[in-house]
This record gives sequence, C-alpha cells and structure tokens, in this order.
Amino acid sequence: MIMLPVTEVFSSIQGEGPYVGVRQIFLRLPGCNLRCPYCDTVTQTLQEFRLERDPGSGKFSVFKNPISVNTLSQLLQNYNFSLHHSISVTGGEPLLWASELRELLPFLKEKGIKIYLETNGTLPEQLLQVMPWVDIISMDIKLPSNDDNLWDIHKSFLRLSLQKEVFVKIVVQEDTKLVDLEYARDLIAEVDPLIQTILQPVTATRGIVTPKPYQLLSWQSFFLQKLRNVRVIPQTHVFMGQL
Ligand code: SF4
Repeated sequence: MIMLPVTEVFSSIQGEGPYVGVRQIFLRLPGCNLRCPYCDTVTQTLQEFRLERDPGSGKFSVFKNPISVNTLSQLLQNYNFSLHHSISVTGGEPLLWASELRELLPFLKEKGIKIYLETNGTLPEQLLQVMPWVDIISMDIKLPSNDDNLWDIHKSFLRLSLQKEVFVKIVVQEDTKLVDLEYARDLIAEVDPLIQTILQPVTATRGIVTPKPYQLLSWQSFFLQKLRNVRVIPQTHVFMGQL
C-alpha cells in the first residue's frame, strides 16, 4: 500500500501567477529541500492533516498521516472536479513525493481534472517521474541571495519543463540584487525568451520588505530587454483573506 503524508486539502482561489483567480483544489504536501527566508508555509509532516469537507466552506475533517493513496483518491472524489480549473499539487516541495504522486496523479487525470504543479524547480529527476500526468508547471527561480546557488539545477529543470506549459515565478524583495535578477533573466532567455515570467513582490514578513513601485517597474523593464512576457503579480490571496 502506497502511503503519502499530507499537510492539507481545500478548495480555494489561486492567488499567484498567471492563473490568479481560477478555482482550484489545493493538495499541499509536507517537506522542502530549501529554506527560503520569506517562507510562510508549514513544511514539517504533522501527525494529522485537515481536509475541507464542503469545498469553500472552511469546515475541515481531520485524518491521520500518512494516508494511503487509495483513500486520498476517494476523498478527493468528493470535490466537484467540473467546478475546479485544476488541482494544485503544492508544498513544501511536492516533487519530494514523486514516487507516491506517480500512483495518485493518474487517477486524477482519469477523472478529467488538470494537474497544476507548484515547484521550487530544483528536482529535475523527480519531475521526469511525474511529467506524463502534469499539465501546467509553476516553477520558482530562487535567487542566490535566498539560498545556495541554484542556477544550473534551475536551468536543467526549466529545459525539461518546456515539454509542458510552464511559467517562472521569481519572488523579489526590496534588497534584491540586480546581479541576481540578471542571472535569472539570462537563464530564462537562454532556455526560451517566450517563457512567461512573473516577478512576485514578497509579502512583507519578519523584516523582509516589499519592493517599492519604482523598483518593480525598473526590474520589469530590465527583464523585458530579453524576455517577451514579463508580469508583476503580488500574492492576491493574502489581501482576499483566502487560504
Ligand atoms: S521552496 Fe517554498 S516551501 Fe520551500 S522553503 Fe522556499 S518558500 Fe518555503
């Protein structure tokens, strides 16, 4: 029996990136291989996880962790798939659970719902394991000031992601360095200048400051020198009070 730990399952509105506003089922999985300073996500595996009983109701049932993939599949069937644009498989870093997702995702695809993978873009081998069932890849590029130098691994990941619909998201803060943005921009341009790129101003937290409007405009212009489709989109679910 394949078991999978879960953080939470709920129905809500996508708050980030080009799909902002669509209704999704969120399957949040624990664990992450990075430690971003602005991280607002619970990444440890808890003894229990919560699942929203009626989509959008905010009323949750509690289940023990880990749960069998078969049981989780049954629970997900309670959601009306036709109401939802896609299921967002998110984390933490969901590709840490690639073997388990290989069991779960085919079931979901069979039921006719799209798979939207939100990933930090650092586990290319694991991406290959689940690629057949993924429709949309939301890939973060983590700037070196946020973590170790991840450029090479991000480039490999992005090249593989071109097999599917992919967009890149870069979280920027007031003290983001232009040299880091230049590396990120040139990396994307080398892979494909048409890849949609989102500059996401950080939601202020623990002394990390949101960029000023003039910085965002200037950085967008800088990216547009080499890329064709660059948008600035903040985390909209935060000011909507959504999960
Ligand atoms: S990759 Fe995402 S979940 Fe992991 S530490 Fe960074 S922000 Fe948090």
